[in-house]
Amino acid sequence: MSEMMFDRITLIGIGLIGSSLARIIRRESLAGELVISTRRQETLTRAEELDLGDRYVADAAEAVKDADLVIISVPVGSSGSVAERIAGTLKPGAIVTDVGSTKASVLAQMQPHMPATVHFIPGHPLAGTEKSGPDAGFADLFQNRWCILTPPEGTDAQAIERLGAFWRACGSNIDTMDPLHHDMVLAMVSHLPHIIAYNIVGTADDLQTVTKSEVIKYSASGFRDFTRLAASDPTMWRDVCLHNKDAILEMLSRFSEDLASLQRAIRWGDGDKLFDLFTRTRDVRRSIIEAGQEIDTPDFGRSAAKPADRR
Ligand code: NAP
Repeated sequence: MSEMMFDRITLIGIGLIGSSLARIIRRESLAGELVISTRRQETLTRAEELDLGDRYVADAAEAVKDADLVIISVPVGSSGSVAERIAGTLKPGAIVTDVGSTKASVLAQMQPHMPATVHFIPGHPLAGTEKSGPDAGFADLFQNRWCILTPPEGTDAQAIERLGAFWRACGSNIDTMDPLHHDMVLAMVSHLPHIIAYNIVGTADDLQTVTKSEVIKYSASGFRDFTRLAASDPTMWRDVCLHNKDAILEMLSRFSEDLASLQRAIRWGDGDKLFDLFTRTRDVRRSIIEAGQEIDTPDFGRSAAKPADRR
């Protein structure tokens, strides 16, 4: 698709997600003008060096003036303060969305600031890598990935359709969902795996009996696969944990119960139970490959470099 969809798009936050959006917006000519704003001058300068937009504006309130689509790509804990800053200068009729990994909290933080004249539709592209910053983005990040929209009740259907069309032009498939349901699903498929990875890598780092050099040297035995997730941005993941607390705690308690059951099977030498579980989990991976969400290569798609995003 190469048809201009919005006269002006403003991106607030130009890290991995914001800069990937900038690249696809330019490649597919989805905006007449692309305005970029971010918190630190250093990041804004880098975005300009990378030629990610048409205009670079430090002040977010100034940057959203006359924008038809505003996309906020900042850590979820900052979405309320950004909403407050831009509220007074949003164009009537504009669509305002975000890409945050938690939805109920973003809705609660942003909605009170949103003027009744704009269409506020939170969103979450299920695509990412462990990298951050404007250099990390790439135009194909959203290709064949899901984007979940969580429009508040009563949102204008045409605005939802327009935002959906934008994400489809970025390569994504669209689902709409209740924010609390989103948060529960994501706690399982994304937040829990990251927390487990942070924990296991932390445990290995703390271990005194195995030297760190051995952990690194023999990492291909399994440990390496956790380190990719555990290298994810600390600010982003601190905010995810703080802003999806209830759903994460629920998933963690189920996980702990299942882990205790697995521990018991190992202790009592219950090979059948172990074999059954490991067979069931192998089928799950097969389904993910069949759904086109992973590549079935011996290196888990690492050689495919950037397109092998897995979040
Ligand atoms: P990132 O690469 O670390 O970039 C974050 C951006 O937000 C930077 O441009 C940063 O600006 C800006 N920012 C931080 N605090 C801000 C504030 N208080 N006010 C204004 N701008 C601020 O992060 P990211 O990976 O793109 O993540 C952005 C959002 O996408 C998060 O909500 C995350 O949950 C969500 N998400 C991430 C992934 C993923 O895999 N990474 C996937 C899906 C959704 P400065 O550099 O100028 O400080």
